Amino acid sequence: MDKTILVFMGPPGAGKGTQACRLAEKYGIPQISTGDMFRAMLANPTTDTEKEIKAIVDRGDLVPDDLTIKMVEDRILQEDCRNGFILDGFPRTVEQAKALDEMLETHVLRINHILQLDVDSNELVARKEGRLFAPNSQKVYHVKYNPPRVAGKCDESGEDLIQREDDKPAATRHRLDVYYTQTAPVSLFYDSAQRLIKVDGNGKMDDIFNRLVAIIEQTK
Ligand code: AMP
Repeated sequence: MDKTILVFMGPPGAGKGTQACRLAEKYGIPQISTGDMFRAMLANPTTDTEKEIKAIVDRGDLVPDDLTIKMVEDRILQEDCRNGFILDGFPRTVEQAKALDEMLETHVLRINHILQLDVDSNELVARKEGRLFAPNSQKVYHVKYNPPRVAGKCDESGEDLIQREDDKPAATRHRLDVYYTQTAPVSLFYDSAQRLIKVDGNGKMDDIFNRLVAIIEQTK
């Protein structure tokens, strides 16, 4: 199989993580979620820098580009990325998008598909606000769309589910603002170069998944 490199775009709550995870399983390639990487890195912040970055993430602001870009470049060079990878949550600024093009060119790699999940804005807020998170197993649930078997408990670990700081209403609204000011220009950057594929992200998870697979298979 050729390397499959996919980039997922779309606002917070669009379902990037869920779909990227399923596609990663289907194609046997890792899902690289910069949000998950930051959360793992910042689970127990000790240095001042870590504490500063944690405050940025909790507020829903973006971590500085240089740090984020370096983290992604290190990650895509790891052995498990030899058959490809799915970027979920990166790039989030035009600067990051340009850096991604450069790093892929340096390593003689190219993106196969840049997929943007488009979702109605009311639906976005509803999806985000119902999200529940298991801090140890890192599993994500939703009170309505993906409920755990026992309310408030993780299916896998049995631990109590919490609402992540950055899923709380004020942070959700702020994250949407950050998306529209800083990340929407990345979509324009790709779209104006005819590199962006817009996918309807409304509706059932399985239907959205099938739409994505159809696009990927069409041009593989
Ligand atoms: P996510 O889970 O993808 O919504 O990411 C959670 C948080 O991690 C974001 O609100 C940012 O604070 C940080 N983050 C994730 N990806 C990036 C990125 N590409 N650039 C800067 N900050 C990021």
